[in-house]
Amino acid sequence: MQHPFEATLEYASSQDDLDILHSFRERFHFPQHEGKDVYYFCGNSLGLQPKSAAYLFQKELDDWAAHGVEGHFRAQSPWMYYHNQFSDSLARIVGAKPSEVVAMNTLTVNLHLLLISFYRPTQARYKIIMEAGAFPSDQYAIETQVKMHGFDPETAIIELSPKGNAHTLEDEDILQAIREAGDSLACVLIGGVNYYTGQLYDMASITKVAHEVGAICGFDLAHAMGNVPLQLHDWEVDFACWCSYKYLNSGPGGVGGAFVHEKHGDNPETLRLAGWWGNEESTRFKMRKGFVPAKGAASWQMSNAPVFNMVAHKASLDIFDKLTMQKLREKSLKLTAYLSFLVQQLDHLKFEIITPSEPHRRGAQLSMLFAERGREVFDFLEENGVIADWREPNVIRVAPVPMYNSYEDVYRFYEILKNFQ
Ligand SMILES: *Cc1c(COP(=O)(O)O)cnc(C)c1O
Repeated sequence: MQHPFEATLEYASSQDDLDILHSFRERFHFPQHEGKDVYYFCGNSLGLQPKSAAYLFQKELDDWAAHGVEGHFRAQSPWMYYHNQFSDSLARIVGAKPSEVVAMNTLTVNLHLLLISFYRPTQARYKIIMEAGAFPSDQYAIETQVKMHGFDPETAIIELSPKGNAHTLEDEDILQAIREAGDSLACVLIGGVNYYTGQLYDMASITKVAHEVGAICGFDLAHAMGNVPLQLHDWEVDFACWCSYKYLNSGPGGVGGAFVHEKHGDNPETLRLAGWWGNEESTRFKMRKGFVPAKGAASWQMSNAPVFNMVAHKASLDIFDKLTMQKLREKSLKLTAYLSFLVQQLDHLKFEIITPSEPHRRGAQLSMLFAERGREVFDFLEENGVIADWREPNVIRVAPVPMYNSYEDVYRFYEILKNFQ
C-alpha cells in the first residue's frame, strides 16, 4: 500500500506545522532529560501534568485556609458541589448524558460497586465473560465477585484467548463466545482498549450481542477513556468505569469515574450500595431513614467529594473541553500510523507489533514484542531521553498521545532506535 509518510525530520516537522492540536503540548509539563523535554510515550500509564494544576491546587489550599468548613459553600468552586462540575466534560468524552456519569473513587473500587449492581448471577445464569490475561486488578475483582455469590471461578468465568498464534482477539470470536454462552451468561466485562496490546474492541457490537442473549454488558475503559471516541449511551452499554490518570492526565491515583445507562441509573429499583452522597440532594442533609437515590450515576457515590484529588482532574478536563474527541482521534490515527510506518523501517531489530495493524482496531498505542534484546532496547531508549513502558517479559508499549505528542517526538523515537546497535 502506498502511504504519504516519510522517515525524515523535515517531514515530521511539516506535519507538526499542519497539526491544529500542536500547541496543546504547551499546556503540559514534560519531565526533563539532560536539560531537554523527554520524548514521553507513557501517557497510557500516567499522563503528563497540566501546567494549570498547580494554580488550582493552591486555590483550594487558600480557600481552605480562608474559610475552613465554610469552604463547602464559600470556596470559589464550592466543595459541596465540586464533583458536579465534571459531568458535562465526562459525558462528552464517553458519549453519554451528564446524569449518566460521575467522578468518584478509583477504578477498581468502581468496578466492584458496579458489579454489585450488575453482576447478579442466578443458578441458571451466572457466567461472566472477560479477556484472558486481563489487567490483574480486573481479574481479582471478577474472581472475588464470583466467589462472593457462591460460584466457582473455574466454571463461572469464561476467559477469551486469541486463537492459535494470534496476539489479539477477533471481534467476531468475542461475539461468538457470547452467543455460545447464551442463557448461562449473566455479564460481559471487557476492556474497551486492551492495556497490553492496545487493541480497541467493537463495543457497540459486543453490547448488542450481549443484550441479544439477555446478558448485561460493561466495559473497563481504563485505556479507552480520553483515547478513543465513545458512544456509551447510544451503544446502550449498561455500565462502565475508568481511571483518570492515564489518557485523562489527572495525576497519580486521580479520581476515577463511572457510567451507568439511564435505563438503570434512573430506575429506583436498581440495587446499589449506598452512602449519603448518593442520596437525592435536596434531602441529603435531612439525615432521614431510607435511602432515596439521586438521579443517575450520581447515586452510586458514597462519600463526599475528595476535592484535592479532584483538582488535577479539573485542570485536565478544562483542556479536554477545548477540543473534541473526534479531533483528537483524527490526529491520533495519523500519529500512531506514522509511528507504525517508522518502526517498520527498523530492519536491524527483531520485534513484532502485536497491536492490530488496522487503525480502527487500535488506540494511541503500539506494543512491540521483542524476540531478542528487548530490555537492552528499552534501556537504550531511556538513556536517550525516551520514556516508554516495559512489560515483562519482552514488550515495549509506546503511546503517541495526540494531546501532547508531536510528529517530531515520534520521529525522534525512530531515530534513536535506528542508532541502537
Ligand atoms: C490502569 C488499570 C487499572 C488500575 O486500577 P486502579 O483501581 O485505578 O488502581 C485497572 N484495570 C485496567 C484495565 C487498567 O488498565
